[in-house]
Amino acid sequence: MNHRITIDDSEVAFDCGPQQSVLDAALRAGIELPYSCRKGVCGNCAGTVSEGEVAGLGGPIRNDSCAPGQVLLCMCAPRTDLRLRPASWHRIDPDARKRFTAKVFRNQLAAPDVSVLQLRLPAGQRARFQAGQYLQLALPDGSTRCYSMANPPHESDALTLHVRHVPGGAFSARVAQLTTGDTLEVELPFGAVTLEADADRPFVLVVGGTGFAPAKSILDDMARRRVDRPITLIWGARHAQGIYLRPAIAKWQRQWPQPFRFIEALSGEQREGAFHGRTDAALRAHCPDLRAHALYCCGSPAMVQAVREAAHASGLAPSRFHADVFVNGPADAWAP
Ligand SMILES: Cc1cc2nc3c(=O)[nH]c(=O)nc-3n(C[C@H](O)[C@H](O)[C@H](O)COP(=O)(O)OP(=O)(O)OC[C@H]3O[C@@H](n4cnc5c(N)ncnc54)[C@H](O)[C@@H]3O)c2cc1C
Repeated sequence: MNHRITIDDSEVAFDCGPQQSVLDAALRAGIELPYSCRKGVCGNCAGTVSEGEVAGLGGPIRNDSCAPGQVLLCMCAPRTDLRLRPASWHRIDPDARKRFTAKVFRNQLAAPDVSVLQLRLPAGQRARFQAGQYLQLALPDGSTRCYSMANPPHESDALTLHVRHVPGGAFSARVAQLTTGDTLEVELPFGAVTLEADADRPFVLVVGGTGFAPAKSILDDMARRRVDRPITLIWGARHAQGIYLRPAIAKWQRQWPQPFRFIEALSGEQREGAFHGRTDAALRAHCPDLRAHALYCCGSPAMVQAVREAAHASGLAPSRFHADVFVNGPADAWAP
């Protein structure tokens, strides 16, 4: 039996099946709530159930990455009609998500295991997305992979992806062989980040490996909009060559109106000027008091979880932790 879900202080209501996540039902009804991984890891979809009862999907209720009293809306289903208070919501513009046949324009090896892939959209076509969002790429077998846009939204005739080569990976292990003129089927945008809400606070970005891709889009976008707030970027890799786009950092350090602090965290190498250790340890060491900050984190599930714990121990409010998690497999369904 379906249950009716109403968003607090609004006229908005939608139905949700007993085995459907509240987030999924909202997205299908054209209501976008904050989300990224849809697998219970990133914590972006945390919300409050102000009336009614929910149950965990396929297990107990997950709220380890939420503020007290909240639940992950991607991991719970209604047991009764509900009233809901999500972190934010808006109506999805049905024309915003589009499919394109994109052409490889440039493909460069930025590190031994990272390709920077630049795609061009067909002449006259533009992609609309927000910094921090991602696309889905269709493989010949019909499966999909997600990749974050690394270019800022105003560069809307192109898409830049940073792809780490996963040994044996159906797409990433062969990305280096793509050449100019090859085509890829992509759909975008996906994901909903809520960075605007914290616009005045000092901002910390903690990224691991190609988790730098959405951070590059976010920071290029902020630079273009002349956002004036102190920034700290912590970028983690095993070795120095994993920090694969140093000119971008040097540029931000030159142009940012407020201090732009960059910390490279190298877990497998001691190097002068770099922090020796993981990103969560670098965060504890360099940002011991995060009570006034907002934080964006992107990387593997284990890394995001470790950074979340370090951030909360330093006083960051749970609602100001925003994450994208590079989970394996599609985070969203390829639209029919
Ligand atoms: C929202 C989102 C955004 C993403 N953005 C990016 C991005 O910008 N850049 C990027 O490089 N990746 C990104 N990813 C990960 C990406 O979608 C793929 O999962 C990854 O590239 C592997 O795909 P594949 O086809 O090469 O490997 P698959 O064929 O899917 O997997 C092959 C094997 O590798 C394992 N595997 C898959 N992924 C990983 C991994 N990350 N670490 C270890 N083992 C793995 C699988 O379990 C399997 O055994 C993102 C994921 C999500 C959900």
